[in-house]
Amino acid sequence: MGAAPPPGLPDAAAARERRRAAPPPDKAAESEAARQPEAARGDRPELLFAGLGESRQAAMAAYLLGLWDVLEREFPEGGRPAPNITVEINGFGTEVEFRKKLLADGKNPNLVGAYYRRLSPGHGELVVPLYRQDMSGAMAHELTHAFFGLKYPGRLPVFVNEGLAEYYAAEYAHSAETPRVLPKDWKTEDQWLAMTAEEWGSENRISYRGAQYYYAWKYVERRMSDPRRKKGFMDYLSARLFP
Ligand SMILES: [Zn+2]
Repeated sequence: MGAAPPPGLPDAAAARERRRAAPPPDKAAESEAARQPEAARGDRPELLFAGLGESRQAAMAAYLLGLWDVLEREFPEGGRPAPNITVEINGFGTEVEFRKKLLADGKNPNLVGAYYRRLSPGHGELVVPLYRQDMSGAMAHELTHAFFGLKYPGRLPVFVNEGLAEYYAAEYAHSAETPRVLPKDWKTEDQWLAMTAEEWGSENRISYRGAQYYYAWKYVERRMSDPRRKKGFMDYLSARLFP
């Protein structure tokens, strides 16, 4: 392991610093993370790959584990033993194969990006349409879901969970999209926070494609970007994640 992370939770500047330090997916095979021996990986999950070539696997592993490390530092469990986590990364090379997988998983057949699925306790899957050009933002979003979903299943409101996924995708992968249509007075914060996963999914299908992700990102970003607000937000998250 490298130097121990500083105590407490790093601020936004530190997060940006780490983001800059994160290897881009194509160069990541060269990175330190990829060369770290298994025993030094600490709380890292086991990654199982299918459907990706070897060099792509190494690059993807370094990229995903780098983000996992960021999340572990942001949300340390304070000495509790980490659960054993396994994440499968299953790549699909053509749209036809990806659609078949969507159907088999009972997902919205119009989905175009990567997605995360929990298979059993501590065991999840990232499904990756490899024919899409730049998946780095989507992979960061979905890995963040895997982190919270596998370590702390069901402990966060879907709105906060999506906001964190968007926030770390933006910080780590420079991936942020502002939707063109931003409805005003759509929902109150309490209404957003009360949404179930099912409501989140169906709302996304009917209104303002993607705009609700922007609101979720904004909710998290607003809190993470200000030290005092971040403290309050982290206290809130800790109370939910580590009850
Ligand atoms: Zn999501």
